[in-house]
Amino acid sequence: MLTVRVPPGSPEAQYRRAGLLIVMICLLLTTAATLLLSGPLQVGRTDQLLLGLMLLKNAAFIAWLWRVPGQFQLVGALELTGEVLAGLYRMHDVLLVDHTAHGLSGYSYWLALPYLVASLTLPAGAALAAVTPYLLGLGGLGVAYWLAPGVPDALRDDNANAWLQMLLMHTTFMAVITLQQQLRRRYAHAVALAERKSAQALLDPLTGLPGRRALHDLLDSAPDGLSVVYFDLDHFKRVNDTYGHDVGDDVLRHVARAARASVRAGDRVGRWGGEEFLILVRGDAAVAARVAGRLRAHLHAHPHPVAGPVTLSCGVAQRHPGEDISHTLRRADQALYAAKRAGRDTVELAAPPGAA
Ligand code: GH3
Ligand code: MG
Ligand code: MG
Repeated sequence: MLTVRVPPGSPEAQYRRAGLLIVMICLLLTTAATLLLSGPLQVGRTDQLLLGLMLLKNAAFIAWLWRVPGQFQLVGALELTGEVLAGLYRMHDVLLVDHTAHGLSGYSYWLALPYLVASLTLPAGAALAAVTPYLLGLGGLGVAYWLAPGVPDALRDDNANAWLQMLLMHTTFMAVITLQQQLRRRYAHAVALAERKSAQALLDPLTGLPGRRALHDLLDSAPDGLSVVYFDLDHFKRVNDTYGHDVGDDVLRHVARAARASVRAGDRVGRWGGEEFLILVRGDAAVAARVAGRLRAHLHAHPHPVAGPVTLSCGVAQRHPGEDISHTLRRADQALYAAKRAGRDTVELAAPPGAA
């Protein structure tokens, strides 16, 4: 039963665990209230002891769900097993042993709980398979009661009728819960798909790097003291003209890999557009210039297999306290053009704000 996995940490797993927590908290309150009222309700000594044990069990399961969220299916399966066995046992007693003394007893109100617990613990098909024997067991008890000798006719008719209505209600409940669960699963799939698609939309499809929109998001939340390396491939048009667009595309992927390999953990690299890239560096302009230097050295050491050596022109700017990030980018862009004018294949530091 437990091999039916719900992806851990997924919204679906969170929903299921929260549902089980709610059920267990309600059960805890119910057992506590029944125990407190056990005097007026005339609950016997043995039942009081059982209620006390249930109270402890419910508190333990709540603590377990709370502390170890990843094991919610184990907690749910144990709760379900306990409820099914206790329900069948109690109703066996009520219907076939004590049948002359009680009606269906207050316990019968709780007999529908296993369907809910199963639907929270297991996916639709498995939940249905887990509770079907229970429903059949309840039905079997009803038939056994109907056939049992020694039950006064009036009591038999009353109880059998109530039992039948209850089983029909259980069937309805089970059917709707299964349907609702299938719908929820499709909804969870749709949400996961939409999240995946929107994450993909932020990536540049050619290089797999964050695209311009993702870079804007990163820049918007950029901390003070961040530096940027803005770089552009040198004479890239020639690569396209000489070797074709496909080789040009591959050179862009080659540069993207080199850039990824040259940045430190925590720095981010993205494709700004065309053959222009941006690296967000956590550190001052000197640190950023070293990152640019590493990238150029990497490309020097690893020429493209078809197009040969690839060189870059880089502009480096550090965001000054209070400076608008778009202004930092403009300074990096001006430094990049200075690098181009200086003959390409070089790194230029931007002028401080207000100098130009
Ligand atoms: P410079 O050193 O001055 O930067 O010269 P350049 O040839 O690199 O500059 P230019 O801006 O003239 O040319 C950039 C070229 O990049 C033109 C465009 O076709 C090419 N390009 C832009 N995006 C892509 C792409 O996704 N794939 C390929 N293959 N080429 C691209
Ligand atoms: Mg360009
Ligand atoms: Mg270029």
